[in-house]
Amino acid sequence: MSESMQVGRADFDRVMVPNYAPVDMIPVRGQGSRLWDQQGREYIDLAGGIAVNALGHAHPGLIEALTEQAGKLWHVSNIMTNEPALRLASKLIDATFANKVFFANSGAEANEAAFKLARRWAHEVAGPDKNEIIACTNSFHGRTLFTVSVGGQPKYSQGFGPALEGISHVPYNDLAALEAQMSARTCAVVVEPIQGEGGVIPAAMGYLQAVRELCDKYDALLIFDEVQSGMGRTGKLYAYMHSGVQPDILTSAKSLGGGFPIAAMLTTNKVASHFGVGTHGSTYGGNPLGCAVAERVLDIVNTPEVLEGVEHRHQLLVEGLLAIAEVYPVFSRVRGSGLLLGAVLSEAWKGQARQIQEAAQQEGLLVLQAGPDVIRLAPSLIIPEADIQEALERLSKALARLVG
Ligand SMILES: *Cc1c(COP(=O)(O)O)cnc(C)c1O
Repeated sequence: MSESMQVGRADFDRVMVPNYAPVDMIPVRGQGSRLWDQQGREYIDLAGGIAVNALGHAHPGLIEALTEQAGKLWHVSNIMTNEPALRLASKLIDATFANKVFFANSGAEANEAAFKLARRWAHEVAGPDKNEIIACTNSFHGRTLFTVSVGGQPKYSQGFGPALEGISHVPYNDLAALEAQMSARTCAVVVEPIQGEGGVIPAAMGYLQAVRELCDKYDALLIFDEVQSGMGRTGKLYAYMHSGVQPDILTSAKSLGGGFPIAAMLTTNKVASHFGVGTHGSTYGGNPLGCAVAERVLDIVNTPEVLEGVEHRHQLLVEGLLAIAEVYPVFSRVRGSGLLLGAVLSEAWKGQARQIQEAAQQEGLLVLQAGPDVIRLAPSLIIPEADIQEALERLSKALARLVG
């Protein structure tokens, strides 16, 4: 194998496990909110690596943080600590409700740690019967066996043998259903402040506050999965900050590393103390390279310029999308917060998100689906306004062609 070996999309089907169905082009280079494929075709990227590339592609600050750290120290394992991890943890604590941090490498791993910690906490404070985790129908928490069991989409958990026990699901934004399910056995309730994979569905007004009160009443932990909604995505550092409702545990990944794999579980002193020495761990979690990059992402994102810019870009995108919807009634409304947006397909176009995504790609525009009925946008938090305008024009062209 040499670097000059020619590869193409057809090789995917030959050499890769067939669990993905990637689009037909292969990007080879990115800059800001633009990508270029093997043929040199250019695309505007409103997919953002599925809400990961928070500062676009090849951001000079992130290249600097990565290469500076790459020349110093990559990995020491958790038998030693390291400076970037300690700096990043300190900054995350300063910026949030949390007192303690555990680092992992992906959203699923951060959630795995959160669910294990909640179980451990309950086991130690109340005994083995307090083990029920309540999650929401349609939620997504990752692809490990524990996280698909907690996740509320059976298509991801069925067919892998017995799921984990002690997990139940209630409809999102349905307080009565949650209240009916809660008991002294409840160890934790896990909620996405905005359901991302489930269709870009925000928590209803007052919902998070009421869930907090139910958790307090039954002495259960409240876990916010902010893997997708966190790190500036909604115009605040974390989405919970809009509501003022504080969780006991919060998970962060995706945008946290701006494209470098890193995740964090944030929690309080009270809860953290139940993960004693040896109870949990990760070889790579908190490695210096990932932490150095995430520290720079946090330094850049957690500023008024970037966070207010998210709100401004939100308005531009929503106004543009609604103007397009008046000409081409393919979608009926736009929901979501900040730069996590879902254009909900109208009745006649239900189920055709993939076709719309493909038509957009042909016009040089990358968008995401969130299920078959929603076009999801999760661009760079600093996407240039000119790229937003150009993206809207390309979307118009794609829809014009589809509508015919
Ligand atoms: C993407 C996502 C995850 C899983 O993250 P991975 O890095 O893919 O493991 C978990 N929760 C939410 C809300 C997500 O959007």
